[in-house]
Amino acid sequence: MNVYDSEQIEKILAPLGYKIASSFEVADLIIVNTCAIREKAEQKVFSFLGRLAGLKRRKPDLIIGVGGCVAQQEGDKIMERMPHVDLVFGTHAILRLPYLIERIESERCSLVDVEMSEIIEEFGSVIELPLDRSDPKVTSFVTIMRGCDNFCTYCVVPYVRGRETSRFPESIVSEVRGLVKTGVREVTLLGQNVNSYGKKENLNSFPQLLARVNEIDGLFRIRFTTSHSKDLSDDLISAFKDLDKLCNHIHLPVQSGSNRILKRMNRKYNRELYLEKIDKLRNNCPDIAISSDIIVGFPGETRADFEETLNLIKQVEFDSLFAFKYSDRPNAPAARFADKITEQEKKDRLQTLLNLQEYFTARKNRVLVGSNELVLVEGLSKKKVDNDDAQSKYQCVQWTGRTETNKVVNFIQSEAAIPRDRILKGKIVNVKIEKAYLHSLLGKPALKGEQSYAA
Ligand code: SAH
Ligand code: SF4
Repeated sequence: MNVYDSEQIEKILAPLGYKIASSFEVADLIIVNTCAIREKAEQKVFSFLGRLAGLKRRKPDLIIGVGGCVAQQEGDKIMERMPHVDLVFGTHAILRLPYLIERIESERCSLVDVEMSEIIEEFGSVIELPLDRSDPKVTSFVTIMRGCDNFCTYCVVPYVRGRETSRFPESIVSEVRGLVKTGVREVTLLGQNVNSYGKKENLNSFPQLLARVNEIDGLFRIRFTTSHSKDLSDDLISAFKDLDKLCNHIHLPVQSGSNRILKRMNRKYNRELYLEKIDKLRNNCPDIAISSDIIVGFPGETRADFEETLNLIKQVEFDSLFAFKYSDRPNAPAARFADKITEQEKKDRLQTLLNLQEYFTARKNRVLVGSNELVLVEGLSKKKVDNDDAQSKYQCVQWTGRTETNKVVNFIQSEAAIPRDRILKGKIVNVKIEKAYLHSLLGKPALKGEQSYAA
């Protein structure tokens, strides 16, 4: 979401003459877009801001702005801690940025704007102009709703992003169309709980929105995140079968395998319901990839609760997992819960869990060796490739992309398989997988007889 918001900031400041600078040293304006989801993310913000103090001393005209969730949460306390900061703007203040920056430019004052609003137009009307980039992107995020009404007890989002508000479907579709014109071939629709998209405002349902995006010519793939298990509907599950552009991957955070902990987290589903949804997804779409989020060491999590989480991982066999040590967040009710878990215990549990998941990730990747996978090419990989064939006068390059199931695939373009001038970025290529690593797969374009290009 911050990536998307940063792009909106880039667009909205373009009319003021600002464009992305090549380094901090040459910048006239530095915007730090912050995340407050975990304690570590917040600590990073303050250490980064601390490092900018020297630059500001050398360049007093430099404007430093802090936006995003930490800005929303801390407001003018940021100025007290970091007096070299000129502007603090909250998560709902992006559209007011040009006005705020112009005031700072002319009055050399410092400003704080952390006002929140529930007006949908304000959010939906964020300019839909594509960014003027020399190296256009193949994939893009599109925020379809902001805020959250779920109030999970560990989570800061409802306090720093406000109430759930959905954008109009027309605005979303038109933004995606604009992106496709610039070369984008895959969009990821973003919301904290996409299942409740449009419900409050009586707009399209989320599956209806997906169907509308699915009709956009020139778009190859659609993804979305995040889906909340309590609201994952049968219609959405069917969409994986019905919509040809919807990738067969779902990120379905479970957070814990213990019903007692799920209840204390206020997740509003239990282990049984979660497993039922997984079964439905797999019955409907047998090769769907499933990833999840897990928090270890939530207050009161016993060894037995943790074992239940490990057990659930064994039962589901996720393709990949994001696991986090629980951290207290300001305002979130769990910060006031007793029986906190020690840092060492959280660290140990996290390691045990990651080791277990590594086994499943590696196994799932290994199974793909020898198969052909359709890969949407995102660009050249940064890695240099040696040409194995010393006789060959052609250079090898390595491309990188993803399968529909969201696995990273790198492949070497060899002259025998692909004409030299062929630009693969933004194309779907049929790749024969030759090696599996933990975080990526390596392959070669399938031979002609195996259908080299899909698009
Ligand atoms: N809306 C999404 C989650 C967004 S936050 C959902 O409901 O699934 C992304 C992830 O950060 C969460 O899934 C959770 O695993 C983790 N997270 C959130 N608050 C946390 C906290 N206080 N400590 C540790 N991890 C946290
Ligand atoms: Fe946070 Fe829960 Fe909302 Fe996700 S659903 S953003 S975890 S409150």
